[in-house]
Amino acid sequence: MSDCLFCKIIRGEIPSFKVYEDEKTLAFLDISPVNPGHTLVIPKNHSKNIFDISEEDWVSVGKAVRTLASAVEKAVGADGININMNNRPDAGQLVDHTHVHLIPRKKGDGLKLWPQKPYPEGEAESIVEKIRLEI
Ligand code: AMP
Ligand code: ZN
Repeated sequence: MSDCLFCKIIRGEIPSFKVYEDEKTLAFLDISPVNPGHTLVIPKNHSKNIFDISEEDWVSVGKAVRTLASAVEKAVGADGININMNNRPDAGQLVDHTHVHLIPRKKGDGLKLWPQKPYPEGEAESIVEKIRLEI
């Protein structure tokens, strides 16, 4: 994908702070971190997001994420890591190349995760049924 931002980073046409690379994946610092050490893990083969990435590339990304979670946590002295992935624009995806966020967390850093609410009566049963039918 010639005009994809992260493909340009993979090809070295745009600079990045690389933290890890293997045959299938690349990891680099997010240019605008939630906390220092915020790292993006991407497949070298272009895909848009979770909906079109190959199983093989996804497994490679997963392995790199697992390795890097410990490395990043230790390196920045974090107290935990959030692993997040935005898929499609309405879910907050700004860059159209599959990427997983590793976000180091510090006790008391004040970052709020999403609000949650209980299911109304009967809705959980109906949603479970609908999801199972789509698999
Ligand atoms: P998302 O909203 O999940 O698509 O996240 C895209 C992320 O890419 C954002 O957190 C940006 O800060 C980050 N980003 C955008 N451009 C660059 C770049 N050139 N180098 C590193 N990170 C970038
Ligand atoms: Zn790309």
